Amino acid sequence: MIRFTLACDSGHQFESWFPSNAAYDEQSARGLVTCPFCDSARVAKAPMAPAVARTDRGRADAPALQLPVPARSAEAPGPAEAPMPMIAAEPERQLRALLRAVREHVVASAEHVGDRFADEARAIHYGDAEGRAIYGEASPQEARALLDEGIDVMPLPPAPDDRH
Ligand SMILES: [Zn+2]
Repeated sequence: MIRFTLACDSGHQFESWFPSNAAYDEQSARGLVTCPFCDSARVAKAPMAPAVARTDRGRADAPALQLPVPARSAEAPGPAEAPMPMIAAEPERQLRALLRAVREHVVASAEHVGDRFADEARAIHYGDAEGRAIYGEASPQEARALLDEGIDVMPLPPAPDDRH
């Protein structure tokens, strides 16, 4: 088993395990190695030395680990069934840290308007209120209505301990 640090053309880095270098080359050539963040198949090895998994010495018959290799048959309806590549814990932690940073930046720099969010966003958009960054709560219907009116809103990444 060899772990490669891979990077897609959008700069996402992630790690994936392969049975061998050749297996990686083959899966990569068939477009089966995709970025878990943006699904791009334009993935290349990041310039980093691969780490070789520790194996039980003297146990040549140790069972091989099952790899989440996407099995795409010609009859497969679409990419919906392609399993997610294995992601090591480290990049996932980095992604969470990034989302947390985005959230903290918004919370620190924008005004919290609570459930008045839709009204305030509308007032700012139509010039009835001072232009400023705000955040707050909106129902999916309210968010949809704002977007339909051409008002830019985006969901705030949830805090890790925020499970409503
Ligand atoms: Zn990507």
